[in-house]
Amino acid sequence: SARLARRLSWQFTSARLATGASAWESPDILPWNAWIGRLWEELRWSTGRTDAVLRSAQRRVLWQHIIESSPQRHHLLQPAAVANRAMDAWDNLHAFNLPIFPAGVFLNEDARAFRGWADAYRRRCVEDEWLDEAQLPAILARAVNDIPVRGARKVLLVGFDEPTPVARALAEALNGIGVEVVWQSPPRAVGRAIQAPFHDANAELLAAARWARRCLERDSACSIGIVVPGVSSQRVLVQDVFANVLTPLSLVKVPDGKQDVFSIAAGEPLTDQPLVAHALLILSLARERLPAIDAGALLRSPYLRGATAEAPARALLDAALRRRRDREIGIGAMLAEGKHAGGEGVADLLHGLGALQGRARALPAKQRAPDWARACSVLLKDAGWPGCRTLTSVEYQVLSAWRDVLADFVSLDGVTGAINFGTALRHLRRLAAERAFQPQTPEAPIQILDLAGAADMGFDHLWVTGMHEDAWPPTAQPNPFLPLPLQREAGMPRASAEAELARARRVTDSLLAACTDVVMSWPQQEGDTVLRPSPLIRTLDEEQPPLAEDARWVASVFSARRVSTFVDDAGPALAAGTEVRGGAALFKSQAACPFRAFAKHRLRADALEEVDVGLDAMERGTLVHSVLQQVWLTLGSQAELLKLSEAGIGALVDAVVEKIVGAAAQRRPQVFTMRFAAMERQRLGTLAREWLAEECRRAPFTVTGCEASRPFRLGGIAGQLRTDRIDTLPDGRQVILDYKTGHVPAKPWEGDRPEEPQLPLYAVTGAEPLAAVAFARVVRGEGAFKGIAAEPDLLPGVKSAAAWDELLAGWRGVLLNLAAQFERGHAQVDPRNGNVTCRNCDLHPFCRVHELGVAPEMDDGTDGDSHES
Ligand code: SF4
Repeated sequence: SARLARRLSWQFTSARLATGASAWESPDILPWNAWIGRLWEELRWSTGRTDAVLRSAQRRVLWQHIIESSPQRHHLLQPAAVANRAMDAWDNLHAFNLPIFPAGVFLNEDARAFRGWADAYRRRCVEDEWLDEAQLPAILARAVNDIPVRGARKVLLVGFDEPTPVARALAEALNGIGVEVVWQSPPRAVGRAIQAPFHDANAELLAAARWARRCLERDSACSIGIVVPGVSSQRVLVQDVFANVLTPLSLVKVPDGKQDVFSIAAGEPLTDQPLVAHALLILSLARERLPAIDAGALLRSPYLRGATAEAPARALLDAALRRRRDREIGIGAMLAEGKHAGGEGVADLLHGLGALQGRARALPAKQRAPDWARACSVLLKDAGWPGCRTLTSVEYQVLSAWRDVLADFVSLDGVTGAINFGTALRHLRRLAAERAFQPQTPEAPIQILDLAGAADMGFDHLWVTGMHEDAWPPTAQPNPFLPLPLQREAGMPRASAEAELARARRVTDSLLAACTDVVMSWPQQEGDTVLRPSPLIRTLDEEQPPLAEDARWVASVFSARRVSTFVDDAGPALAAGTEVRGGAALFKSQAACPFRAFAKHRLRADALEEVDVGLDAMERGTLVHSVLQQVWLTLGSQAELLKLSEAGIGALVDAVVEKIVGAAAQRRPQVFTMRFAAMERQRLGTLAREWLAEECRRAPFTVTGCEASRPFRLGGIAGQLRTDRIDTLPDGRQVILDYKTGHVPAKPWEGDRPEEPQLPLYAVTGAEPLAAVAFARVVRGEGAFKGIAAEPDLLPGVKSAAAWDELLAGWRGVLLNLAAQFERGHAQVDPRNGNVTCRNCDLHPFCRVHELGVAPEMDDGTDGDSHES
């Protein structure tokens, strides 16, 4: 492997340096595939052969193309995954020098399908004079006399657990022309190996990291291998654990470029690198709208020109776009909102997006891969990618890997022909996703790697994790496209349980003999499953290896603590005469939780909007408000309502609903599909008709205010109050109504911290005489008034207060107290009703309420104006 080749080069260099040498001839150390490629080039030059070897990307696309054009395509869910397995089958057959298929072998349906695809693949290769890399060793072995072997006459082959027949045949052919080919086994060390159980896989990893730290503390020149089977899939966890133990400062400090103490031999998909992920987003944006989350990520990308200078304005633009609540956002919307909300603050961004839009419009419908590669580079440049700040060393490597992806993409030309932009983007995305990226770094003393090749790396200490009986030996996984007896007879990898056991024994033996200090660890538990050690390590002594002190960052900070306690629950008081915006919402927040009021109304801390499918509860409620507002603006009074027949009310409601839904559909065309709009019309119409029937049962009234607002002042707080409805009775007194489309609290106005202070606030700050305040609960089948009145029978089901004036005076006192708290800067984290109050609050990360032992419940999303919202 490339990794082992690097390691051997490094060991050679270290050995030469240790002898005091200052110059030496570099050893010619290559991974197997590179060596085969070099031999092939030498053969080609000497014989003048013209056939080209397909690149990996070309092979994959060709296999997939053949499979997708075959009669079996209708039965396949994932042609790309099938193509990968078919390629494995092809490679194995060539590695074992087998035809497709030998006579007399029974073929099931899958094998017959594979034979058809392989025939098509071979035909295409012959027609276009292509060669497959799996065919090269056999071709080289046959034509070995034509290979002009230059330089060294001795070849050492290192790291081969069990060479394939075709590799052996090539080695023998080379031996036959005088090149000495030696299969080199790793030196066997005699030392002590132990097995060590740990509670679970996390504890195992942590112990391995602490053990490695101890080894290094005792001998800073030693080399340590940590084997984590399947390390690629656990890269993030492994990185976290080892960084925490070995380089705790890296968690709080940007690395200073010194050599890393550990490295993980596991590449990540190139698409996980932000530089490439953002490039792909730009290209997608040139073709189609992006999901709102991706559009936001792109706007805040550091890889666009002007990103640093315009960062705050671009973040605000992202917030503004989210408020549109569109699920998908295109360049047009970004440009429009940018000009409207961002202006000069995002000039560079707008310039880049404008250029991208112009260039995208001029793209042809179809062209060949090299033309698409050029077009993509130009589109990225137009958009201002990769930005103007200096790239880090890793980012440069990512950029270089991206260029390799483009080169791979160009090579697809012979296979794909002319394609459209969407297909070109799909190929690019897949090529980038399949390219494992790992930055080149100096050889680190601690190497974390998979099982393959670990025994040959020449470590001084070796720890192998995950040695439990369910994982080692691994289960057999024969290739579904090859007849099973054929795979077993040939001894193909993973073909049978016996073969896997034999291979696992060989690997275990070589790991145990890899150095003088070997630990084989295993987790005792995985979820609810109790695990036991692998039978292959049970003969080892069970022992706990020596570990370094737990030096994780959290542990060291915690152990160094000196606790001093002080209560900090107040911000600065409001300066006299300060106007605070917020109206009734401010009082509601202060009553619910003083910190919430301080954060929202003094610090303006608000969460970003989250875009979801359809309408949220608040939007649905707003539509109901709008319909009732329009109905009452049309009617004006209960008397007019009573004049209408049932059909007349229906016609009025239908007309209003049509208008409101039409306007909403214009604002949110992505949400209001034809079907969705029809459902909304039905919902709103039913709700409005039911509610108007409730209004008919009331004492007479005239509607004198719909969604009206007026200024108020209470204590030092001034603002605007908005009420859903004001009705005036024949005697001139007012009834204030607040529409609720969800839950109405049982006691909305009681106590020092009322849940719904809006109506009391309206009641105590108005000059007009008041007869009642109530919620109008507009809920299907449950419509009702809920409130309190100066006397009975003003509203159906609403009781009268025992002492109306005293009630209003009490409300006034409570609200003045809340106003005074807010003015003083009282900001205690004190949710009125514990986690229920926190449920619909988005400030958890800011107030850190969980540290007080209050675990916020999740919002169930069913209640648009919940009593604790
Ligand atoms: S999450 Fe709870 S404690 Fe925190 S500000 Fe909101 S209501 Fe207060």
